[in-house]
Amino acid sequence: MILDAYASIDDYQQSQKNISEITPRLVSAVDAEQGQAYYCPYCGARLFRRISDKGVSYYVCHKGEKHRHPVCIRKEKESITRAVNSPNFSFDHFFGGILKSEPEEIEGETPKISTVIVEPGEKTKLPEDPQHDSFRVLPYSSIQQLVDDDIKIKGRNAVIDYENHKLIDLIVFKEWIKFVFPSFFGGKRILECVPNYCDLDRRYLQFRCYVKNPQNNFIDYYLNIYFGKKEKQFNRFARMLFSNEASASGSTRPRSKYSTVFVAGDWEKDNVNNMWGGIKRETYRADFVSSKQIYAPKKHML
Ligand SMILES: [Zn+2]
Repeated sequence: MILDAYASIDDYQQSQKNISEITPRLVSAVDAEQGQAYYCPYCGARLFRRISDKGVSYYVCHKGEKHRHPVCIRKEKESITRAVNSPNFSFDHFFGGILKSEPEEIEGETPKISTVIVEPGEKTKLPEDPQHDSFRVLPYSSIQQLVDDDIKIKGRNAVIDYENHKLIDLIVFKEWIKFVFPSFFGGKRILECVPNYCDLDRRYLQFRCYVKNPQNNFIDYYLNIYFGKKEKQFNRFARMLFSNEASASGSTRPRSKYSTVFVAGDWEKDNVNNMWGGIKRETYRADFVSSKQIYAPKKHML
């Protein structure tokens, strides 16, 4: 089910250029006009609005049109889909689920929590509900769902109000970092960043995101996730994200296995003395509370 579309082919073409504040706005199927042509945000296919028996609005292709992008080809076939603008979606509820404390894993026990990497195509089983027809719109509940839907196509909605929030209040793709830093005050946020370092002694993982300043230099911002007593989870993520753990002296810098990963936390300024190349670096911190905080897409593996 496709829930958003552009009102003109010009808007679609504009959206394919760099994301900026002039990126056109998507029209939700709920607001679409009967008989009007709309355009797929992923591939530009010509669409029109349809309403299911139970009143769910969505877009379908005009006769002879076909979706051409892997995401819209998949989403078109889904009768149950996720949306930020679902009436049930709330930022607080979303982060409440992601940042829900999970128990410490005991060495030797199999974790009850499912693995972090869940490949697309795995369907969530939902109970039969006679109140709904086969078409259902559910709120997003994991980082993977947001990333796999390539929600960054929402372009303009990222930086301009989207319902009561901006999309960058929820998730910051690397292309959007410039809208958030350097004036990031912290708080709950998902950030796309590069695994940078793991510190075995203090048991934290360090991530890095960067922006280009007007002089075309890269400015780095560091994000530390502290695992505290959760040693098993720390070891698991350190092994997953880095090719070798730091030596006892911390002098060997482990190599990242991923180009970028997504990390969620309730961020605040970290006063740790984070020095690289003789300069103190702007650093934020968050506690590790749940494995749902880190999503490493397999296609980002180096
Ligand atoms: Zn499409």
